[in-house]
Amino acid sequence: VSRSKQIKLVLLGESGVGKSSIALRYVRGEFNEHGEATIGAAFLTKTINVNGCAIKFDIWDTAGQERYHSLAPMYYRGAPAAVVVYDVCSMNSFNRATLWVKELLQQTSQMVIVLAGNKADMAGENRGVTKEEGKDFADEHGLIFAETSAKTGMNVEDIFQSVAVKLASD
Ligand code: GDP
Ligand code: MG
Repeated sequence: VSRSKQIKLVLLGESGVGKSSIALRYVRGEFNEHGEATIGAAFLTKTINVNGCAIKFDIWDTAGQERYHSLAPMYYRGAPAAVVVYDVCSMNSFNRATLWVKELLQQTSQMVIVLAGNKADMAGENRGVTKEEGKDFADEHGLIFAETSAKTGMNVEDIFQSVAVKLASD
């Protein structure tokens, strides 16, 4: 018997941290260095197979509304999964990400949340948030954690795979 499951996954995080780039990397295997709004649609889908179950991700990206901090709860309401993104070079974006996580956890305890420290390829001397800071916050709140790079693709498939595995068995 083949099973299938649709998962709404929302991307959250400060403007410019690489939310659209992560979605584009994951769904199309592409990266745009100067990319902005090339996705056009704020909605992408991808279906993967997890232990014989077809998992269809409906990935909700924002079309820039996050700049105005006006993302309504209706954006993430009912979503079983969220990827909250920050830029490892920006402590501000990390602080913002922690606020998103706390807001999500107040709304629902069921949600699978990934904390993604993106732009890991740029870290080096530009790093503003240590890997331990990200990992510690994630552990404290029961989140999946990874440092990612939409540019190189590092850990991008992994975060979606982890979500799918967690939700496939529900
Ligand atoms: P969003 O506003 O969160 O959707 O961020 P974007 O996906 O539009 O990315 C903002 C800028 O950061 C773009 O110029 C991207 O090319 C760049 N960017 C995104 N992810 C990465 C990454 O992992 N590494 C590097 N070096 N640049 C990235
Ligand atoms: Mg975007």
